[in-house]
Amino acid sequence: MAEATEAQIIEALKKVRDPEVGKDLVSLNMIKDVQICGDAVAFTLQLTTPAHPRKEEFEQECKLAVGSLENVNSVNVRVTSHVTARPSMAGKMDVAGVKNIIAIASGKGGVGKSTVAVNIALALSREGAKVGVLDADIYGPSQPLMLGIPAARPIAEEGNKIRPLEAHGLKVMSMGFLVDEDSPVIWRGPMVMRALVQFLSETIWGELDYLILDLPPGTGDAQLTIVQQVSLAGAVIVSTPQDIALLDARKGLQMFRKTDVPILGIIENMSYYLCPECGHRENIFDTGGGEKASQRYEVPFLGAIPLDIKVRLGGDFGMPVVAGEPDHPTARAFREAARKVAEQVAIANASGPISVPELKIIG
Ligand code: ADP
Repeated sequence: MAEATEAQIIEALKKVRDPEVGKDLVSLNMIKDVQICGDAVAFTLQLTTPAHPRKEEFEQECKLAVGSLENVNSVNVRVTSHVTARPSMAGKMDVAGVKNIIAIASGKGGVGKSTVAVNIALALSREGAKVGVLDADIYGPSQPLMLGIPAARPIAEEGNKIRPLEAHGLKVMSMGFLVDEDSPVIWRGPMVMRALVQFLSETIWGELDYLILDLPPGTGDAQLTIVQQVSLAGAVIVSTPQDIALLDARKGLQMFRKTDVPILGIIENMSYYLCPECGHRENIFDTGGGEKASQRYEVPFLGAIPLDIKVRLGGDFGMPVVAGEPDHPTARAFREAARKVAEQVAIANASGPISVPELKIIG
């Protein structure tokens, strides 16, 4: 029997679609280097992020599609990734070497924004991405503690450059490095902004796929200035069930919409209680609030994270749950959410700089 042709293989692969994007993998330019040797076929599947949530699904579907051709007996799919970068936006600042800056925001403090930020960063790094964290939460910088480096200080290098710290495979900078833990900081918005821009541009980040920016809580002037001036790949809103009910999260959505920052979606934290003894799941609060809110505001729902003592202890002891127990159900919830975040970044990058209509509040 004659060998399959490249055209037949490509045709077969056109049947594999990315449902989130609504296009097939060939049109998305994800199939490369098709090789045919007798009845054996090999090709590369190039994902837009190593943390792609459909990695296994795509690989399997590609194998099935090509394997179903009459003259093909074995299919070898090489899965690789190339993280796409946020297209530059006029008037907004890019950071050299950093492909995507992802802001993690919340309507108010205490909802677990920093906890989500660090676990998402660790989850992306576990998938093979190069990741940094910038703790911009000047009023409660918690990343140094959560990453187990509370007493460390970054080193200034020649030419005013700062070398970030490293912890659990992440590059880390924190406004916490500038302040004394015991003295409350009274910084005005513009000061926060100046320090942050300096941190962003004068840190030797190296090459990063994702820089996770842990924003101060709320939607004040400092936050607004940051989102107006820095070119962000997108924003994740962290919310608790109560916060969603009170619509605190809505203000965050408004802020990002107004400044043309893609909203990657909502993560509902402390969503339900997971018993550390028996693994029983108790829905203490109304469930599904985050999902309903994301439907209402037409933004993706990225996941629900349980209220779990392991999360707090991990944060307090410098070993976040994704680093310490990556296979624990709570860590898995963070890892799934991180994959969705990375997927949404790639989708936003593919659609270029956005200009979206203002948020409509219904009811
Ligand atoms: P924020 O950044 O929104 O102010 P933090 O991330 O600092 O909030 O979290 C506040 C407190 O809640 C911390 O003690 C943290 O360990 C705890 N916490 C956050 N998320 C969870 C969770 N899912 N389960 C248990 N404790 C949590």
